[in-house]
Parts: sequence; structure tokens; C-alpha cells
Amino acid sequence: MIYGALEAGGTKMVLSIGNEDHELLERVSIPTENPDIVIPQMTEWFASRKIASLGIGTFGPVDLNPASETYGWITSTPKLAWQNCALMPLMRDKLGVPVSIDTDVNAAALAEYRLGAAKGLHSCLYVTVGTGIGGGLIVEDRLVHGMMHPEIGHILLRSSADDPSPAGFCPYHKGCAEGLASGPAIEKRWGMKANELPEDHIAWDIEADYLAQVCMNAVCAFSPEIIILGGGVMHRKHLFLLIRSRVKELLNNYIRVPQIMEKIDEYIVSPGLGDNSGALGALLLAIDAAQN
Ligand code: ADP
Ligand code: ZN
Repeated sequence: MIYGALEAGGTKMVLSIGNEDHELLERVSIPTENPDIVIPQMTEWFASRKIASLGIGTFGPVDLNPASETYGWITSTPKLAWQNCALMPLMRDKLGVPVSIDTDVNAAALAEYRLGAAKGLHSCLYVTVGTGIGGGLIVEDRLVHGMMHPEIGHILLRSSADDPSPAGFCPYHKGCAEGLASGPAIEKRWGMKANELPEDHIAWDIEADYLAQVCMNAVCAFSPEIIILGGGVMHRKHLFLLIRSRVKELLNNYIRVPQIMEKIDEYIVSPGLGDNSGALGALLLAIDAAQN
């Protein structure tokens, strides 16, 4: 059987197909134009591959309450053309197959939990640090949705004394994680591409402080058994050392567990599935949808 996996992003849509052995077989990427253009392109691509079901990991905010009339709709995104777009129902009705939807980061967390760095554990936090910051959370073997879904990228942080732009760049909030520490925030603050900033630039100490605050807040709020940091910015591997050491400083010996005290390099980690967490998460959603 062939299943469809859609990673719906603000910049690009990544369409994949895969099988029940979690092998990704084909992938294309198309720019996120307005829904009236891109949705027909996507349904056509998936329909011609005869998928049994579709999983969608999407940018948000998105309505994930199955009892809601707007279940599976994108809601209040700053991308105006996508506001109140019925993404999931439009795809489902056109394709005529079961469709399951979750946030892009919940999908990635699910893949890491079942197949990747968090395999065998009962909880994990997956955070992506890219064009935006987002977090997907599994607690007691279940993805967390709650009232809507977590928006970990918009938690408020304490600004760093060395930060020349301490309010950050989020259009909604002053001092939220995404506004302070996303890839575009780094680039606006320093006027340089994040992949070109030298390793010894103070930018990275500030970045590590902010991401360590996200980790500390997560440790204290949710107590995940592992924290996985992915996304484009985390390709800068030296950040992991800086973040781990800052997390220990911030926690200040308050939480005395081996994961923090002795093995923090196995606690705050890169994705086990590399850059495939999102696609595999969407594939898992599709396989689950076909079985239910
Ligand atoms: P998206 O979040 O759009 O899905 P990415 O996770 O690749 O995509 O994030 C893109 C952002 O990550 C860019 O804005 C860029 O600032 C940053 N980025 C990408 N690659 C690198 C890198 N090697 N080093 C540092 N930052 C990077
Ligand atoms: Zn914000």
C-alpha cells in the first residue's frame, strides 16, 4: 500500500509517498502559493499516486479539535491567504481517502518517538528552530493537543543583557522564543546569514541562552524524557554544547536526575531521523488513518 505524507510549511509544501515499512519512496517540494493554486496541485499529485490515506503535518495555528466545525482548518496565520483555509477537508474531499492532520512539530515528535531518538521512551519534546520555532510534545505516550495545540515557539523568555534586539521580531509578542531565536531573528539581529556567522560570534551565546531557556521551561513544565532539537539553525552543531551547558547553569542543580546531571549529551539531542522527522511523522499519521 502507498500512503501520502504532506509537510505543509509556510514557505514550501513537501509532498512524499511511503509504505508501511516507513520507507519514503518519492518526494517533491512546491512553493506555498495561495491555497487556490497549491491545493489543486497537491491533490493532483497525491491522486495520481493512488494513496490509501494521507497524513498532514502543518504549520499553524490549526484547529485540531475533531468536534469542531472547522476541524483541520488553518486559523489565524499571518499568511493572509491561508487564514481560515479548510486545508484538511479540502484535501480529504478531493482525494476521497482518510486524512489525518496534526501540527508539523507534533508529526515530527511522533516520528522521533516511534522510530527515532525517543524510541522506547514514553515522552519527548521535539523543537524545531528554523524559519519559526515550534514544539511538538508527547507525554505518557500521547501527543499533547489540549485546548488547541501547544505553541511552544511563543513562550516568553528573559532577554539576554548582550542582545542588541531584546524585544525580538515576532509581530505578535515582545520577547517570545520565535521572535528572539528563529533563523530570521538571528539574521535580522546581526545582518548576516545564520549559516555564515562564525562559531565564536556572541550571536551563538545569546542563541544558546534563549534555546536553553526553552529547554529549562520545558523540563520544569512537562518533564520530557528527552528533548530533540531540529530545524535549519540546529545544523550548527556547536550550539548543542552551548545549550547543554547553559541548561545546567539555569537549572542550577535543582533537578537532580542523571539525564541532566550526568548524561545531558543524551538528553538534549539532534533528531534521530535527521531531516526526515516531519515526513515520517506525516507518513505515520497516514498509516494510522488508514487503520482506523
Ligand atoms: P523551515 O523552518 O522553513 O521548514 P528550516 O528548518 O531549514 O526550514 O529553517 C530555515 C531557517 O534556518 C533559515 O531562516 C535559516 O536562517 C536557518 N538555517 C538553515 N540552514 C542553516 C545552517 N546551516 N546554519 C544556521 N542556520 C541555518
Ligand atoms: Zn511570538
